[in-house]
Amino acid sequence: MKFPKEVRAYCPYCNAHKKHKVKVASKGSARTLAIGNRAHQRSLMGHGGKRAGEKTVKKQGKRQKLMLECTECKKKTEKVVGSRTVKKIELKG
Ligand SMILES: [Zn+2]
Repeated sequence: MKFPKEVRAYCPYCNAHKKHKVKVASKGSARTLAIGNRAHQRSLMGHGGKRAGEKTVKKQGKRQKLMLECTECKKKTEKVVGSRTVKKIELKG
């Protein structure tokens, strides 16, 4: 999937359509010592049965996420493009 490097998109801070710079959003890694993560790890221990958070079916693709930066107010907004795809998003132009 290809996507232009600059788009005119709605900026909620300027409340208007402005020029935005496009970057591929990268997800940060989860903090392993966060309390929710530790509680989840504890719940995965045990003797079989149905365990919440363990997936039996893996989805084929992921939804591609972009970060748009407004060129006027420099604020960033997320944009999810299309539906699930196996191909990674490419910036062109
Ligand atoms: Zn703006």
